[in-house]
Amino acid sequence: MTHPAQPKASHFINGEYVEDTAGTPIPVIYAATGEQIATVHAATPAIVEQALSTAKAAQKAWAKMTGTERGRILRRAADIMRERNHELSVLETYDTGKPLQETLVADATSGADALEYFGGLAASLTGEHIPLGEDWVYTKREALGLCVGIGAWNYPTQIACWKGAPALACGNSMVFKPSETTPLCALKVAEILIEAGAPAGVFNVVQGMGEVGGALVTDPRVDKVSLTGSVPTGKKVYAAAAEGMKHVTMELGGKSPLIIFDDADIDNAVGGAINGNFYSSGQVCSNGTRVFVQKGIKEKFLARLAERTGNAILGDPMDEATSFGPMVTENQMNIVLGYIEKGKEEGARLICGGKRADMDGYFIEPTVFADVTDDMTIAREEIFGPVMSVLDFDTEEEVVARANDTEFGLSAGVFTKDFTRAHRVIGNLEAGSCFINSYNDAPVEAPFGGVKASGVGRENSKEAIKHFSQVKSVYVRMGDVEAAF
Ligand code: NAD
Repeated sequence: MTHPAQPKASHFINGEYVEDTAGTPIPVIYAATGEQIATVHAATPAIVEQALSTAKAAQKAWAKMTGTERGRILRRAADIMRERNHELSVLETYDTGKPLQETLVADATSGADALEYFGGLAASLTGEHIPLGEDWVYTKREALGLCVGIGAWNYPTQIACWKGAPALACGNSMVFKPSETTPLCALKVAEILIEAGAPAGVFNVVQGMGEVGGALVTDPRVDKVSLTGSVPTGKKVYAAAAEGMKHVTMELGGKSPLIIFDDADIDNAVGGAINGNFYSSGQVCSNGTRVFVQKGIKEKFLARLAERTGNAILGDPMDEATSFGPMVTENQMNIVLGYIEKGKEEGARLICGGKRADMDGYFIEPTVFADVTDDMTIAREEIFGPVMSVLDFDTEEEVVARANDTEFGLSAGVFTKDFTRAHRVIGNLEAGSCFINSYNDAPVEAPFGGVKASGVGRENSKEAIKHFSQVKSVYVRMGDVEAAF
């Protein structure tokens, strides 16, 4: 019997499901059991061509609709997503292995927020009138044209919406390529947009590995590329986009600092560290994986952290009581287990976890290392799994310098009751998305994105509009033209 997660076909182009079985088969594995639940096929050159030519053809008419009309469609799509939240959350859980307890509140709901927010903004995208005596200049905020979105595997619904909603609000069309690891959810986003009234061809989904992503990025018809992925992929995609002078948004990896001063509320700080390391089993780009704890409260913090981490419920992700799911793939599990071994070898003190859980699926116990030093591999490289490194510090000046000593700059957090210090420390940290007495909140109203190697551009908020539109200026002369001859 066909599994309920199996999509009708691999791709969604011009308002309908499209198949081409000549493309390389991509198995979809349910991470909680290791069972294959679906198969899609990578896009062949013919499918890539179909998607790009369709999106190119659909864009002009979409941009000519009023912002109110485009916005209404996006807001309708948001309503449909919310009505179907349960069904979409189950699919997200099949796609990623994340527990339903999370997917019910963080995926289709976050996607719907983006569709609603950018739907609401669509009608307000206007230019300026700049008076120049008798003459004037007016500006128009115009769409970029055809945009490509490329996703990572941790938030397949959210990433499709965080890219698709602002792109469409501005009058662009999009070809979206999900991660080959989680190909299912973006197809539902495309289906829902059509049901909400989007013209066929404005949002298309094609499957495939990096090769398909590469074919999209290098196509001369493409005006913008928005990637969510790792730093090495980001460097390749940015370079390829530069070759064609295309706009880019790069949402890449991180190794973010979470700084806990000794006046912090310990339980809130422990809660922040748990949210910033173990949500989605640690597969979150903005995670605060370097937890700097001021020496005075170190042992108290570690004891409370170990106690609360012991309350994580590992199990069937479809059971809403389960609070901690598996790694997305066997390969990712092995990468993370490799880092845990490195942590042990390099002398970090294991506080809890530290191994694969004794159950089916790709589960790793939530793991905490203490006495981590700045040069250890687990303190330098992005692990993308449930491995928290706790480092000690004495002074504010010292911790800020150490926190900034990394190529990454996605996020940063600080816990303290001293608000003057909190703002000063955040002001001195090299990071794009920061938190005070909290960690990992990502409301659509707030800009999201990194500095340094963690990325270029911002998603969400009004900032995202700037990255999916451009300004045309028009000089209007009322009198005669003066010329030298
Ligand atoms: P990845 O870099 O391996 O792949 C990301 C996407 O890029 C995939 O769809 C992949 O098929 C595609 N791709 C690979 N090579 C390509 C190429 N040459 N040209 C075009 N496309 C190509 O990342 P991943 O393993 O899927 O995701 C994990 C990474 O993503 C982590 O580093 C994580 O921090 C990052 N991430 C960042 C954010 C953010 O918003 N900053 C969010 C989620 C994940």
